[in-house]
Amino acid sequence: MKKIRCRDLGSSCRFEAKAKSLEQLVPLMEDHARFKHDLKFLSLEIEDLIRERAQSVGESQKEKE
Ligand SMILES: [Zn+2]
Repeated sequence: MKKIRCRDLGSSCRFEAKAKSLEQLVPLMEDHARFKHDLKFLSLEIEDLIRERAQSVGESQKEKE
């Protein structure tokens, strides 16, 4: 699972998106930005920020090796 907060992208909004992968996370934030922040599209810059700042959640067993 990946998660990203709107705050991580420089907003003061409390929205938080969670998805199984980054590929699914980006469109979630895109929808959110479109409806809540009136952005017509997500710039590549923001998309990069999402990829960079998204946190992994619930995958802690992976690092046991
Ligand atoms: Zn927001």
